[in-house]
Amino acid sequence: MRVLYVEDDRMLGAAVEQALKDAAYAVDWVTDGETALDAAKLQDYQLILLDLGLPKPDGLEVLRQIRRTLPPVPVIIVTARDAIDDRIGGLDLGADDYLTKPFEVGELLARMRAVLRRQGSGADALLSNGDIDLNPATHEAGRGGNKVALTAREFALLNALMMRPGKIFSRTELEQRLYGWNEEVESNAIEFLIHALRKKLGTDAIRNVRGVGWMVDKANQ
Ligand code: CA
Repeated sequence: MRVLYVEDDRMLGAAVEQALKDAAYAVDWVTDGETALDAAKLQDYQLILLDLGLPKPDGLEVLRQIRRTLPPVPVIIVTARDAIDDRIGGLDLGADDYLTKPFEVGELLARMRAVLRRQGSGADALLSNGDIDLNPATHEAGRGGNKVALTAREFALLNALMMRPGKIFSRTELEQRLYGWNEEVESNAIEFLIHALRKKLGTDAIRNVRGVGWMVDKANQ
């Protein structure tokens, strides 16, 4: 799950960037509106976390342009506690949710999961397909009554596949969802994670489509 994080406060930015990484998100952190717009045009993000008080242009303008020119992407805006007009403006421009500073990282993560859930199949906190389910809050996967804990990257990979059952993901697509700009990707990293997930959940949990990529089969509901 790849997130564009726009925040010009360096200390807050660094702390939240680390928290998002710890929670298995691939994060691209930028500190001004112009770079945010460039990044949003270049990269396919699953969520944008947008501070409103930003240098050139401000967050509301960034949001306006994202909504006008890009395919739909969930946006959570971050505002100062007293900036009610900005919050209303942001929601009117199509933000999916907002958070006021200062906030607890736990609340931020919960709101991100909620927004992503609404984009997906429904209100269920568990992502499930066939006999496999995945809990985005705990990073636990379950199959046939067995529960296994996943590492951050294993979770991120399985989550990407399970958000879109039946879609084949290429190595590049998976790498883009799992790794931010400044993260080194080992050439066999994806294979390594697939191997680990199959070991935990069964070989048939993830299908390899030779020469194309990987997928989870779309289960009959
Ligand atoms: Ca700011």
